[in-house]
Amino acid sequence: MRVLLFLYLFLIPVCCSPKLTNSHSKNNETQLYDCHVHLMSPGLISDWKAIGIPFGRTEANYFNIDTILSNVGATKIDLIGMGYVYENPEYFQGENPKEKLQEENDYLLETTSKYPSKVRPFITVNPLRDYSNDEIERCFQSNKGIGLKLHFNASQVYLTEPEHLEKVKSIFEKASELQLPILLHFDNWHPKFGKDDLALLVDSVLANLRPIKINMAHFGTSGGFSDKTKAFIVAYEKLRDKISERHTIYLDISAVALDKNSEGMNKLSDEEFKILNTYIHKIGIKHILFGTDYPLYNASKYEEILLQKVGLNKKEIQIIQTNSKKWMNE
Ligand SMILES: [Zn+2]
Repeated sequence: MRVLLFLYLFLIPVCCSPKLTNSHSKNNETQLYDCHVHLMSPGLISDWKAIGIPFGRTEANYFNIDTILSNVGATKIDLIGMGYVYENPEYFQGENPKEKLQEENDYLLETTSKYPSKVRPFITVNPLRDYSNDEIERCFQSNKGIGLKLHFNASQVYLTEPEHLEKVKSIFEKASELQLPILLHFDNWHPKFGKDDLALLVDSVLANLRPIKINMAHFGTSGGFSDKTKAFIVAYEKLRDKISERHTIYLDISAVALDKNSEGMNKLSDEEFKILNTYIHKIGIKHILFGTDYPLYNASKYEEILLQKVGLNKKEIQIIQTNSKKWMNE
């Protein structure tokens, strides 16, 4: 279970305000762009409840788009499907994981069709499955404005395995061909995950690829701010000059600046928040996207943490928001 612990970090919200009301919906001074918001279908919620996964809120907070939009309180969101969990035997032992994954993508596409200018859907596949490119194509035919979420922990992808590397290349080529942005949960949770994987991404996957846009979730790891996160940022800093300028690479700060303990993840101490600030500047403000990992946080609460705990100033927050707006093609 350890491998998958952090798959559902966001299910148990750490912002303990009694209601997830959002001050920004009332005072419209600031526009917030949230690049990392989760959606689950009612079917997935009941499948997970059946295997004992705890949910911190009522179901509408996870499946109902109106509830989600009102809770998040952002001007525009990237809404992330979670169909990849059906391809993981620890989360689904039933038959036809492919159909379940497709149903999850369909639910996402149907849900977001109600708010085409406010919500951008990120469909999901398991890059190791042979039908994944067909599934991307199928979803693309129904909505040309989609993005693609890949979760290398849920799908247990190891770029150090030549076979995995080839499959990932093929998925990235497809995404590039269709001009789909990729939200990449890169960390596969192996203890050695880090600079070697990043080097393979840069030297092998991206080297000869046509232009691609990538948002690396949670600063490249799985949330929280640990030695692993720091090592990843240092490795990224060293390698990024090798990435061609035709590619657009951002890192999202979702689930990094935790101000409360959550499932398997420690909150940051005041000292750690300060250190996080220095690592944010190693990455560079202009390379960072805003994301809440909703239902983990809502947009105004997470912005407040970035200001008050991490110590970013308003101008820096504004730059992160401008990046996020640009990332969403606004
Ligand atoms: Zn997430």
